[in-house]
Amino acid sequence: MPYLNITEVESGVTSLAAAFPTAGLVELPEPTFEGRTCHALRIGTHRREPKPAVVLIGGAHAREWGSCEILVNFAADLLHAHADGTGLVYGGTSFTSTQVSSVLDEADLIVFPLVNPDGRHYSQTVDPMWRRNRNPARSGGDPDAVGVDLNRNYDHLFDFRTAFHPSAPVRVSDNPADSDQVYQGPEPFSEVETRNVRWLLDHFSRTRWFVDVHSYTQKMLYVWGDDQNQSVDPAKNFRNPLFDGKRGLKDDQLYAEFIEEDDADDSAVLAERFCEALKGVRGKEYTPEPAFDLYPTCGTSDDYLYARHIVSGQEEEKILTFTVEWGTEFQPPWPEMKKVVLDVDAGLVQFCLTALA
Ligand SMILES: [Zn+2]
Repeated sequence: MPYLNITEVESGVTSLAAAFPTAGLVELPEPTFEGRTCHALRIGTHRREPKPAVVLIGGAHAREWGSCEILVNFAADLLHAHADGTGLVYGGTSFTSTQVSSVLDEADLIVFPLVNPDGRHYSQTVDPMWRRNRNPARSGGDPDAVGVDLNRNYDHLFDFRTAFHPSAPVRVSDNPADSDQVYQGPEPFSEVETRNVRWLLDHFSRTRWFVDVHSYTQKMLYVWGDDQNQSVDPAKNFRNPLFDGKRGLKDDQLYAEFIEEDDADDSAVLAERFCEALKGVRGKEYTPEPAFDLYPTCGTSDDYLYARHIVSGQEEEKILTFTVEWGTEFQPPWPEMKKVVLDVDAGLVQFCLTALA
């Protein structure tokens, strides 16, 4: 089986929802620019008492093809194993049937494998290295200026020219024709795809963990992405205008982003457990680290969603957030991608078990 096209991703989601009583179909509210309606899966056994949720999304960046396969297979593996009363074996990493049941009993898993179907379709049929969505609104008729980088379109330090130090190498652009394809859009949540993700998190308000699946660099990233983490000076935070123009530099004294020590510790442990289980499959070494260590960012899903409880002041709404960067290229040959799917899915099952423990 080669990579799934967008019709096959969609039928993968709908057929799992139809086949298993422990799965349901969630329709996202806004169709894409090209008119496609998106679906997510809700997985979990029915319980009288409310359960926490884990939200996993993928396919935001069009060219990172395997993210959809990773999430469709993750859902299928758990559903089949639970229905058959078996465990799961991923190479040298395995999980018992009791562990599989505990994930479905103790949480709702919300799996949204294809956030950006228009972009994936374009990447798979026209331009393999396409990253953005296909919204032409700001292109001015220039085909190279179509689309927005969805993982720069969330509402976190969106005004990067104000927030960051002029020398910070922040990976974002306000130019629709930016050659790195990191155009952020005209304002936060200008795009239907990011609004769909926000809706999913609003709708499943008991979400406590979030994973956004991307490629590549073999990393499991956690907050923050705008600067290095520190847990000693709460005043140094993304909402404080005193630190505008100072963010985004490495190993400086100007600024580092505040995170509560418990959250930093819990995030690191979840990322480490993910990487350990992944390594057990066939020995691949992924690195758990704060997102800033890859490069400074703003407007990303992980920073936005972790920051929501700070902005709202509702500690009980806190979501620990992560970004997987699988593999060493965007579109590995399919035989290798099949192995990457097993690697990452083992990591994700362990991630859920660790989160719910
Ligand atoms: Zn990506």
